[in-house]
Amino acid sequence: LVVLGIETSCDDTAAAVVNSNGEILSQVISSQAELLARYGGVAPKMAEEAHALVIDQVVQEALDKANLTGKDLTAVAVTIGPGLSLCLRIGVQKARSVASSHNLPLVGVHHMEAHTLVARLVERELQFPFMALLVSGGHNLLILARDLGDYIQLGTTIDDAIGEAYDKTAKWLGLDLRRSGGPAVEELAQEGDAKSVKFKVPMKQHKDCNFSYAGLKTQVRLAIEAKRINAGISLASASDEERQARADIAASFQRVAVLHLEEKCERAIKWGLNIEPSINHLVVSGGVASNKYVRARLDEVVKRKGLKLVCPPPSLCTDNGVMVAWTGLEHFRLGRFDPPPPANEPEDAVLDLRPRWPLGEEYAEGKSEAR
Ligand code: ATP
Ligand code: FE
Repeated sequence: LVVLGIETSCDDTAAAVVNSNGEILSQVISSQAELLARYGGVAPKMAEEAHALVIDQVVQEALDKANLTGKDLTAVAVTIGPGLSLCLRIGVQKARSVASSHNLPLVGVHHMEAHTLVARLVERELQFPFMALLVSGGHNLLILARDLGDYIQLGTTIDDAIGEAYDKTAKWLGLDLRRSGGPAVEELAQEGDAKSVKFKVPMKQHKDCNFSYAGLKTQVRLAIEAKRINAGISLASASDEERQARADIAASFQRVAVLHLEEKCERAIKWGLNIEPSINHLVVSGGVASNKYVRARLDEVVKRKGLKLVCPPPSLCTDNGVMVAWTGLEHFRLGRFDPPPPANEPEDAVLDLRPRWPLGEEYAEGKSEAR
C-alpha cells in the first residue's frame, strides 16, 4: 500500500508519501513561520491564502520525490479536523481532486490521532493499548489509546496548551519568531537558572489529569514586566545582564511548564493502568514533544512507572504529512475509507470538515475519582 497524506489544518502546508512497511518515500513542508512572525500570529484568511498558493506545488513535490505519479497510489489521506476550517478546506479540496482524477479512495484523518499514531510508524513494536501525551500549540491531551479509532480522553487543558505558553513567552522575551517560539525558548533556557524565578506549578490542588497554562502565562508576563524587559529590543542587541534576565525567565518558565506535564502524566499513567493493565508505552507527540528537556523529564516519569517512552523525531512531532499518510494507511488497512469523489465536483460542494472534533470520549470515572 502506498498512501499520500496532506496536512493544512494550521500554518504548515505539508504532504508526504508512505508505504505499508512504514517507509517514508517523501516528505515536503512549506512553513508560514516567516509570514506569522511578521503579523504576530495566525490570521485564518492569510493562512488560507498561503496554503492555496503552495498546495499544488507541495503535493507535486511529494509525488516527484517519491518517484511516483497519482496512478501508483493506493489511497489519499487528508486532515479533516480539528483546525481552521478555511485552512482545512484547501487540503481537503486538493485531496479530493487528486483522488478523483486517479479514482482513489479517500481517508479523512483526525489531526491529533495522526500526531499519536505516527509513533507506530517510528516504533513498530508499539501495540494498543498505550498512553499518549499530545502537546502542541492548540492541544494538551492525555489519551488512552485502546485500539485504532478507540480513544479515551483522560485529560485536556481547561484554557491554553503548553505550546501557546511557549509561543507567548518567546514573544514577550523578544525572541526571534521567524521559527516558532518553542525552540527559541528552549535554546535560551539553556543559559538560564531554572530556579531563579519562582513560578507556581498550575493546578496543584486538582486531583485530575487536566492542564492549565493561562495562569502560568500571566505569571511569566508579570515577571517580564517586573524585570523591565523590553521585547522591542532583540536578544542579539540586549546587554549581557538583560540577556541573563531573559534566560532566567525562560529556564524558570520551562521548568514549571514541564513539571505540570510530569505531575499529570504520572497520575494519568496510574489511571490508564487501572483501565488497561497491559499498557507498556507512553507516546509523547505534537510540536512541544520535539523539546529535549520535555523528553528527558518525561522519560524519567515513564521509567519510574515501569513503562517505555516513545517520542517521534522532531520532524514528525511538529505538523507534517507523514503522520497523516500513516494514519490514513492504518485506517485503510481496516477498510475504513470513503469511495473516490465524483469527477468535476463543484467548487462549492459541501465537504466533511470537522474544525472542532474531540479525540475520543472523556473519561467519566476520572471526574468522580478526581473529587
Ligand atoms: P495543534 O496540533 O494543537 O493543532 P499545531 O498543529 O499548530 O497545533 P504543532 O506543529 O503540532 O502545532 O506544534 C506547534 C507548537 O509546538 C508551537 O506552539 C511551538 O512553539 C511548539 N514547539 C515546537 N518546537 C518546540 C520546542 N522545541 N520546545 C517547545 N515547544 C515547541
Ligand atoms: Fe499539530
